[in-house]
Amino acid sequence: SFADWTEKSKGLYIHGVKDIIAVASGKGGVGKSTTAVNLAVALANKCQLKVGLLDADVYGPSIPTMMKLHGKPETNQDLKMIPKENYGVKCMSMGFLVEEDAPIVWRGPMVMSALQKLAKGVDWAKLDVLVVDMPPGTGDAQLTISQQLQLSGAIIVSTPQDIALIDARKGAQMFSKVDVPILGIIENMNCFKCPHCGEASFIFGKEGARKAAAEMSLEHLGDIPIEIEIRKCSDEGIPVVVSSPDSVVSKIYYDVARRV
Ligand code: ADP
Repeated sequence: SFADWTEKSKGLYIHGVKDIIAVASGKGGVGKSTTAVNLAVALANKCQLKVGLLDADVYGPSIPTMMKLHGKPETNQDLKMIPKENYGVKCMSMGFLVEEDAPIVWRGPMVMSALQKLAKGVDWAKLDVLVVDMPPGTGDAQLTISQQLQLSGAIIVSTPQDIALIDARKGAQMFSKVDVPILGIIENMNCFKCPHCGEASFIFGKEGARKAAAEMSLEHLGDIPIEIEIRKCSDEGIPVVVSSPDSVVSKIYYDVARRV
């Protein structure tokens, strides 16, 4: 129950890490991991910060693919795992620790012990910010993680679609329950611009996340369009802010990074 979690709220103190920012979503498939990756790389390369990326999406880790990092991490003399690094960001993911095609079936307590391993058992050295790619949803697991990791703040990613928004609202309530400030909402897959005529189509509805942010008095951090390039880059393991640093979408990610 919620009372049990608050009792255990001492949490995991991660040594050497100044701020921990969660990237969360009400449901899967809205672009949470894509946002977390591009934001982490933007924070490292544009804001000159020491950045880590923790893949807490233990159900379906996608950071290994998106950051092109694979294999078991090395350990230091204290038997702490050394994060794998690419594009200036130190990464740790459950995906490094399990076989790529092994099914990951986690019960509640297993999720917590997996996370403990990922958070405490890693030699992050000194970090200005640790970006956490949360598991999708706003249930018990997410609540526990938010509390245990002692987050400095959370970013909610949502598409403009109503159904996803209802969930994003739940997410906002969850973070306020555990006293984690919400830094704002990012509207992902906001529109599709025709590459031929330039006309924008609002495939998932118009400005849904912007309106929800206004309703909940939350910051609207930015709109990311649907772009083939973003999807391709994710699949190839080269984030769009690395492969096309001067593109319009990369500039949106930099802007969000500067604001958080
Ligand atoms: P989540 O973490 O919310 O489950 P992902 O970040 O894994 O979502 O994104 C789901 C899929 O959508 C991925 O294939 C990703 O490349 C793609 N995607 C995410 N955002 C965009 C976007 N703005 N434009 C095009 N494709 C996107």
